[in-house]
Amino acid sequence: MDKPQLATIWAKIRGILQAEVGDAEYRNWLRPMTLVGVVGDEAAISLPTAFMRDWVRDHHGARVNTLWQTEWPEVRRVNFVVNNVAHSPVEARAAQPAEIPKPRLETEEKPDTRPDIAVALDPRFTFEAFVVGKPNEVAHACARRVAEQPACHGFNPLFLYGGVGLGKTHLMHAIAWELTERGGANGKPVSVTYLSAEKFMYRFIAAIRGHQTIQFKEQLRGVDVLMVDDLQFLIGKDNTQEEFFHTFNYLVEAGKQIVISADKSPSDLNGLDNRLRTRLGCGMVADLHSTTYELRISILESKAARAGVPIPPKVLEFLAHKITSSVRELEGALNRLVAHANLFGRVITLETTQEVLHDILRAHDRKVTIEEIQKKVAEHYNISQTEMTSARRARAVARPRQVAMYLSKQLTTRSLPEIGRKFGNRDHTTVMHAVSRVNELMQADGDFAEGVELLRRMLES
Ligand code: ADP
Ligand code: MG
Repeated sequence: MDKPQLATIWAKIRGILQAEVGDAEYRNWLRPMTLVGVVGDEAAISLPTAFMRDWVRDHHGARVNTLWQTEWPEVRRVNFVVNNVAHSPVEARAAQPAEIPKPRLETEEKPDTRPDIAVALDPRFTFEAFVVGKPNEVAHACARRVAEQPACHGFNPLFLYGGVGLGKTHLMHAIAWELTERGGANGKPVSVTYLSAEKFMYRFIAAIRGHQTIQFKEQLRGVDVLMVDDLQFLIGKDNTQEEFFHTFNYLVEAGKQIVISADKSPSDLNGLDNRLRTRLGCGMVADLHSTTYELRISILESKAARAGVPIPPKVLEFLAHKITSSVRELEGALNRLVAHANLFGRVITLETTQEVLHDILRAHDRKVTIEEIQKKVAEHYNISQTEMTSARRARAVARPRQVAMYLSKQLTTRSLPEIGRKFGNRDHTTVMHAVSRVNELMQADGDFAEGVELLRRMLES
């Protein structure tokens, strides 16, 4: 294969990865990848350090492999290696596919070898882009407060916690953006350092190796605001924790603001140094709760509006119902949809959504079975379960049957023919008809719609 062709394939794979993992993750970990070349059935991809190589291989290796096999089936294996100066890499980096939207305000950033400790902020993680709802309103209000008045009494440290993908990192970056763009309470420039606990450790170890611990300490202690993300990573890393504890104390005593995130509250972070735990609990502790359906819809609407591709409300509702785990997954699903629409010029419909997101949807399948649906619907409309699958066509039976078919389509990943078979071996066109009939009736008849919605909620919980 010649180099230009290889570069095009590589650019496409990178484009897909970027769309799938999001810009922050991409910029921090995947953009530094360089395609060394393809020899036989093996592609070699290099990264600047062993640490990054391991991380990328462990977190994204499988996906990169699959993408290569899809785009260029001759490649059977992908090897991740550490940069070595002897090779001449295929310069694919410049050949980003034009279809993938570039994040606004992007700053060209070299891979992880910079001497400074801060990590670049994601330009999308601003307060404007953060959708507020019941589950995150307290955390959001605290973050706003810190952004307006850092180190103010009662809010230092600010400790944000919650499950993965619920917006902790987003809120931290938003505080940092606000402070760097607008300055502190008196408009004076504020120096903000944001980094993950993992990077903190990585840099700390590098400083020890390079005999630069003094510089490392000075850099950290010279900031006005220090943010450390995913603190749970420090559990079991005693030396790093110790170092962090001293930095923390120094900064708080010097009247500087600290913002921390973790997946659990300070008291639930088992294995954390007790002195640190106590200190962390002294300021404001705010949690991000799991999302509600309403919040998921608002988030999807806001992200869809920015995507620049029309997405029908039905698709958004479908996603909000199906993907309930985290905003990150919800966003990943939406990004993949948009990337497909852009790359292949396809219109987004419920059908294309189900097709493109097949694997994600399967993983999130609530495992409601068609039998359960038939049972619940039969109970609701007071008919027997055998009538669900019988050949009887009287409306008193046919209508509930149509509702059950409709809900089977909505709540399971079964195909139309599969659903048909479960309803007394009916044809897939009968199911299709049922789905559109129920949709029509729901539009026309509020009571009927309410009944169907109620059934759906019961089946989903
Ligand atoms: P965490 O750090 O809690 O694991 P992130 O802050 O990285 O989660 O959020 C994951 C993704 O979801 C990010 O792309 C972020 O922009 C998005 N996100 C999370 N919560 C919201 C929200 N309330 N409004 C808009 N986007 C959100
Ligand atoms: Mg995070």
